Amino acid sequence: MSIIKLHDKYFKNFISKEEIDLAVKSVATQISNDLKDEIPLFIAILNGSFVYAADLLRHYPGQCEISFVKLASYEGTNSTGSIKNLIGLNGDVKDRTVVILEDIVDTGNTLQEIFSLFEDKKVKQLKIATLFLKPDVYKKELPIDYIGMSIPDKFIVGYGLDYDNLGRNLPDVYQLTSLKMKNIVLFGPPGAGKGTQADLLKNIFNLIHISTGDVFRQNIKNQTELGILAKSYMDDGNLVPDEVTIDMLKAEVEKNSTAKGFIFDGFPRTESQAKALDLYLNEKGETINGMVALEVPEDILVSRLLERGKISERPDDQDQEKIRTRFNEYNTKTAVLKDYYFTQGKYFGINGVGSIEEITNRLKVVVEQL
Ligand code: AMP
Repeated sequence: MSIIKLHDKYFKNFISKEEIDLAVKSVATQISNDLKDEIPLFIAILNGSFVYAADLLRHYPGQCEISFVKLASYEGTNSTGSIKNLIGLNGDVKDRTVVILEDIVDTGNTLQEIFSLFEDKKVKQLKIATLFLKPDVYKKELPIDYIGMSIPDKFIVGYGLDYDNLGRNLPDVYQLTSLKMKNIVLFGPPGAGKGTQADLLKNIFNLIHISTGDVFRQNIKNQTELGILAKSYMDDGNLVPDEVTIDMLKAEVEKNSTAKGFIFDGFPRTESQAKALDLYLNEKGETINGMVALEVPEDILVSRLLERGKISERPDDQDQEKIRTRFNEYNTKTAVLKDYYFTQGKYFGINGVGSIEEITNRLKVVVEQL
C-alpha cells in the first residue's frame, strides 16, 4: 500500500493504473462495436476527464473526433451545487453521434446538465461513457450507456480527478483515508536540539520517542551484538549501515504496538532509510505526517556540541574532528531528506535558535496541525 498526502488529507491506493487501463480499453471496444462505421464525436467533460479521454481515444480502433466542454460546480467540491458552463459547445453537432466522456458520475447533476445542453441540438444520438459510476449515490433516471467501473461511494483522486486541484497527475486512483497515528520525523543536524525537544513533545502529544542514537548507546552500554557492531561506526562519527539501523528501528516500533504515534529522532538519516520507513508504515495503513526540521546555523551547532561533550561524555561530541565527520555525514547523506519530504508536502522548517521553551512552542504549533 502507499499513502499520499494532498493538502490536509491522506489517500490510500484504491484502483491501479492497470485496472483502469483495462476498463478504458473495454469502454473503447464496446463503443466501437456499437457504432460500427460511424465516426463518433467524443465530447470530454473537463477538467476531470482529460486523462480518460486521452487514453480512451488512443484505444479507440476506428476514426473519431474529439471536442471539450467545461462544466463546474459553483462551490468547490460540492457536487449538489448548481453547475455553470465555462467552455461551451463549439461546432455543429446536428445529426452527429455524440459520445460524452465523463470521468465519474456520482449524483448525476452534471449529467443532467449535459443532457439539457444537447436538448435542442438535434444530434443523431447521445451516448454517455463514464469511467467510474457510484451506483449507491446515482439518483437520476438518465441512461448511462457505458460504464468502465462501478465503485462504492468513496472520495477518489488520481487519473484526472482532484482534491482541491491536486492529484490529477497520479497514474493510479486513491481513496480518502484517515490515519490512526501521528508520526513525526524530528529533523536537524547534530546539535540542533532534537533530543531535548523530542522529550518535551512526546509528553505534550502522548507519543513514543524513538532516538536511534540513544538505542545504539544503550546497546553499547549493555555490550549487545548490535552495540558492538554500532560502536566502531559511532565512535568515529560515521553512520551505522542502513540494514542494521532499519531493522533496529522496526523492532523499536513493534515494542510499542498500541502507540498513538512516534517521534522519530535521528531516523531516517539516509534516503533508503526514509523509503524503508515509508514502506513499513504504509503496510500498517499509516504514514509520516510531517518532517519537522530544526534549522540552526553551523557555528552555533559546533559550540553546542562541544559544550555537551563536556558533560555527556559522548566520545563523538568531544573532538572537533569527529564533529566534522558527523556534519559531513549529515550534509552528504541526510540533508537530502529535506527534498524527499518537501516533494510530498511534508517538510516544515522551524527556527531552532532561541530558548528551549521558545523552540518547543514553535514546534507545538506545527505538530498540532499534522
Ligand atoms: P545521535 O545521537 O542521533 O547524534 O546519533 C549518534 C550516532 O549514532 C550517529 O553519529 C550514528 O553513528 C549513529 N546513528 C544514529 N541514528 C542513525 C541512523 N538513523 N542511521 C545510521 N546511524 C545512526
